[in-house]
Amino acid sequence: MSKYLASRVGYFPESVIRLMSQLAAKYGAVNLAQGSPDFNPPSEVLEAAKQALDAGYNQYAIAWGSPRLRQALAERVRKYNNIEIDPETEVVVTCGTTEGMVASILSLVEPGEEVVVFEPFYENYVPDTLLAGGVPRFVELKPPSFAVDEEELKNAFTNKTKLVILNNPNNPSGKVFTYEELKLIRDLCVDYDVIAIVDEVYEYIVYDGLRHISLASLDGMFERTLTISGISKTYNATGWRVGWVIGEQALLEGVKKIHEFLTVGAPNPLQEAAATALSLPDEYYRWLVEQYDKRRMIMLRILEETGFKYYKPQAAYYVLADITGFGFEDDNAFAEFLVKDVGVAVVPGSSFYHDCWRKDMVRFQFARHLEILEEAGKRLARLSSLRGQASQRCGELAECRKP
Ligand code: GLN
Repeated sequence: MSKYLASRVGYFPESVIRLMSQLAAKYGAVNLAQGSPDFNPPSEVLEAAKQALDAGYNQYAIAWGSPRLRQALAERVRKYNNIEIDPETEVVVTCGTTEGMVASILSLVEPGEEVVVFEPFYENYVPDTLLAGGVPRFVELKPPSFAVDEEELKNAFTNKTKLVILNNPNNPSGKVFTYEELKLIRDLCVDYDVIAIVDEVYEYIVYDGLRHISLASLDGMFERTLTISGISKTYNATGWRVGWVIGEQALLEGVKKIHEFLTVGAPNPLQEAAATALSLPDEYYRWLVEQYDKRRMIMLRILEETGFKYYKPQAAYYVLADITGFGFEDDNAFAEFLVKDVGVAVVPGSSFYHDCWRKDMVRFQFARHLEILEEAGKRLARLSSLRGQASQRCGELAECRKP
């Protein structure tokens, strides 16, 4: 590391998810690592983006979001999330949920304050917390159910707790928080005067008739919750970088300021297209779930045929699979073998745990064309026969360093 780099750069390792995408390209592997679909946004949304470019939406939008998008969003969250917001003052449009999360944490956490994080967690939450000087406190969602352990959660709340971060539905486990779990979190937030940040980016991809409930819709929570989501996963537009944070005006004020200085605003023409996306009929959301459910079933069938034990996801487009039966040293060694020798890229499960303490799982993502999933299945079918001849570890999947 260059002597010129600030110490905060060393607080956390590079993104393992993105590293796996690079390795997938290098070894010609089917990429079931980084969670990004290989299909386009709906055609009317693509069309809206093209029209917006031609219609001159090519300079900055209003920093906190284009009026049409904020209006469409207010209508959507009233209908789907049971949250009433004023589109003028209670939403900030950001460059993806990623910026929404980092801006939210930076705007709320003082150095030394504690942040409760459920694990397995999406990899950004810890670096974001550390950049703000916060101290993460981890609460495990234990497989196979990934249910919240009431005692453990209560023990994590102290008089130093400032925030709890929730990813509902959860990436990577596919867990959907139950109403009872949300009520418990609500009660603790109220008792300890804690703010919740909820990343709901997978809110529409929920299976088996389960219902996603927004924490902010519970009594007493709107005023102490920032709810983050975006178009990436719902409309297959991860590269557009359009997300948002909603919350009470006073709580959102810091996000608004930090957002202005971080990025000024999200891409203006794509905000226009996002407004079109948010206005799609209910039919679209049913179709979305059907498409992903089909893929979920194919992925689970492939895992079964290949001899994996897995944790069936209730939501999102990931599945965590147990690797202990395959005789590898850890998840990094297994992921290297899969990407180099088998030709399938996955994410080592340890990257979703603090200090990489849990090393017995890998994550598969299934937002892929059906034939790509079948190709992955064919490759994985050779896993057992190739296992004895695993080549030298490439070492590129660096041993996880402590944050
Ligand atoms: N959210 C996606 C995932 O979990 C992509 C994230 C990323 O590029 N870091 O894979």
